[in-house]
Amino acid sequence: MRIPFQSFTAQNARVREATLAAMTRVFDSEWYVLGEEVRAFEAEYAAFSHTAHCVGVSSGLAALHLALLALGIGPGDEVLVPSNAYVATWLAVSYVGATIVPVEPDAATGNLNPALLAAAITPRTRAIMPVHLYGQACDMAAIIQVARAHNLWVVEDNAQAHGATSQGQPTGSFGHLNATSFYPTKNLGALGDAGALTTNDAALVEQLRVLRNYGSRQKYQNEVIGQNARLDELQAAILRVKLVHLHFWTQQRQQLAAWYDAGLADIAWLHRPYCLPSSTHVYHLYVVRTSHRDALQQHLAAHGIGTAVHYPVPPHLQPAYQHLGFSQGQFPIAEQLAATCLSLPLWPGMTEAQVTEVCQTIREFKPS
Ligand SMILES: *Cc1c(COP(=O)(O)O)cnc(C)c1O
Repeated sequence: MRIPFQSFTAQNARVREATLAAMTRVFDSEWYVLGEEVRAFEAEYAAFSHTAHCVGVSSGLAALHLALLALGIGPGDEVLVPSNAYVATWLAVSYVGATIVPVEPDAATGNLNPALLAAAITPRTRAIMPVHLYGQACDMAAIIQVARAHNLWVVEDNAQAHGATSQGQPTGSFGHLNATSFYPTKNLGALGDAGALTTNDAALVEQLRVLRNYGSRQKYQNEVIGQNARLDELQAAILRVKLVHLHFWTQQRQQLAAWYDAGLADIAWLHRPYCLPSSTHVYHLYVVRTSHRDALQQHLAAHGIGTAVHYPVPPHLQPAYQHLGFSQGQFPIAEQLAATCLSLPLWPGMTEAQVTEVCQTIREFKPS
């Protein structure tokens, strides 16, 4: 039995009719950019996030970039980011010309370690960008406490954790501005690129709406140097359909993770995901760790099981960030995670038998 790393088949089947109807509705409306669908999705996603506002944008990266622009962060400012983040969080800081200050994650969760934040703060620090990695909410109470004590902005990167909570509160509702992505493989995925920001700050919303649309409130009046970072009507209409099913898909992901947890218990050479008692995990990815990662990945591939590595090279060792002068060994936890992590197959609609088969195949692997 071949088991792909991920599949859209069951998700698509569940929303096929409603999605095609929504696409037809947009097609027939003859209005394709910034209209009723975007407005409605923004209201629905704000409600889902327990925030007052949502601004739809063209991608997760655009959302991160616009957040830092709206907060006025720029050259000379320092921004704390996880050393093991996906590169997008780092890129947003680069785009505004601010200084990236990597902070190591907690080795157990892989999320930003709040205890290490204070030591990284200088008089130039302006913001903290927690990333809810793989779908587990960061320890937001601890992060917010540090931010308040030092008068810093908080910008969550919630691209992987739609629907997760920290102490019962949804991710995407803690920061001053919160960015998310609806890239197709995310837990809430469009049929193309899309993203959003959530916030309770009406003044920031006003700026974001201007920034995403050519710096223009009124057509052909350019107040600031804005961008074209708008969410399409078509993607908004599709996201409205899928948002209704997100809770169901999240429960499926959590069930699959529970089956993996049970099936992989007591393997001495394998670490399973650890979730904080105060957080929930929506399992965008189910990531195990082992020093035998590459051999295990080959073993699974030889048995027809797809896996992936999120992410093989931490940002500080990427060629794009060579100019920052970081070296191998400088962020050992991020480097260790990159060397040992392996994402197992997980998608809504995957069956218990498929999870069992993956676990069985892992148990047959003999680490040497
Ligand atoms: C996917 C992702 C992004 C970027 O989103 P895009 O929509 O692809 O631009 C940013 N941060 C994290 C953690 C992501 O997983």
